[in-house]
Amino acid sequence: MGGWTEVEPDMTLQFAVLGSGSRGNSALVYQDGGTGLLIDIGLGPRVLDQRLASVRSDWSRISAVVLTHTHGDHIDPATLQVMVRRAIVLYCHEAHRESLEIDQGFQDLDRLGLVRHYDGQPFLAPSGFRVEPIPLRHDGPTFGFRIESVARRRTRAIGVGYLADCGSWSESMADSLADVDVLGVEFNHDVAMQKASGRSPALIARNLGDWGHLSNRQAAELVRSILKRSSRDRVGHLVLLHLSEQCNRPELAIHEAREVVQDTGRRILIHAARQTPAHPNLIVRPHRTVNQANPATAGRPRGWAHLRASSAATATLPGLKLELP
Ligand SMILES: [Zn+2]
Ligand SMILES: [Zn+2]
Repeated sequence: MGGWTEVEPDMTLQFAVLGSGSRGNSALVYQDGGTGLLIDIGLGPRVLDQRLASVRSDWSRISAVVLTHTHGDHIDPATLQVMVRRAIVLYCHEAHRESLEIDQGFQDLDRLGLVRHYDGQPFLAPSGFRVEPIPLRHDGPTFGFRIESVARRRTRAIGVGYLADCGSWSESMADSLADVDVLGVEFNHDVAMQKASGRSPALIARNLGDWGHLSNRQAAELVRSILKRSSRDRVGHLVLLHLSEQCNRPELAIHEAREVVQDTGRRILIHAARQTPAHPNLIVRPHRTVNQANPATAGRPRGWAHLRASSAATATLPGLKLELP
């Protein structure tokens, strides 16, 4: 019997990208038996409802939103009003207030005591998730997140890394994202396509600059650096985020990512998130911690159960873009 069938059913973690790209970003992190988080709400209420339904979820499963930054593709004013009606907590950085305070929905959330500030320190979200903000280089104060599920019984926590909207990366960012189970990284553009895009020279310079967006090549090198720091039973899934529709193609981004993954000799499922539909929708089961008393599971590669369970969960979804190196 495979180890993954022994795992308690209420311990899985769902990570679903509901939309990714310059026309709107949001992702769901939900642990079965608890409540979930949305990372960003850059989709309007109707679209967000549809995307949640498409991954078998809805607002009743969500207790908080964590905000990366205040660009319009990451926060939608009408969705802030939904949060007011549903009493959902918003976690943002204090430096985000300046641009948020003009918004009626934000003012209402603030008045109701539903706005919380994060700083450089990890915090506990209502659902028990441990959230570690990671400062990024982008115009305006911007953060990525390392989110850890609640470890229960003899299983370890599941880690999700989410890094989008970032012009250049650093060793400390790679440190913060080591040993996650699901790694989301911005693969924004192909440099040649960006240069030939016909956009204004100022916009091209901004996107290519250190405070703009990560190219496929930059992102792949960041992934290499994270994998170097990670044990071999971690990072079962790599999710490519915020692909430019004009200056990138999923196959180019996947190609760059796959080369790095192949260099490391690891077995990692690579998914290119899109603007639409919601994709990927991953169900990740926790590893059991080492159990000396159970010789049946001793010696089995610890990454195996995790990959097997997850790929089974995603393989039934339409529009699936999987790459097995
Ligand atoms: Zn963005
Ligand atoms: Zn941005």
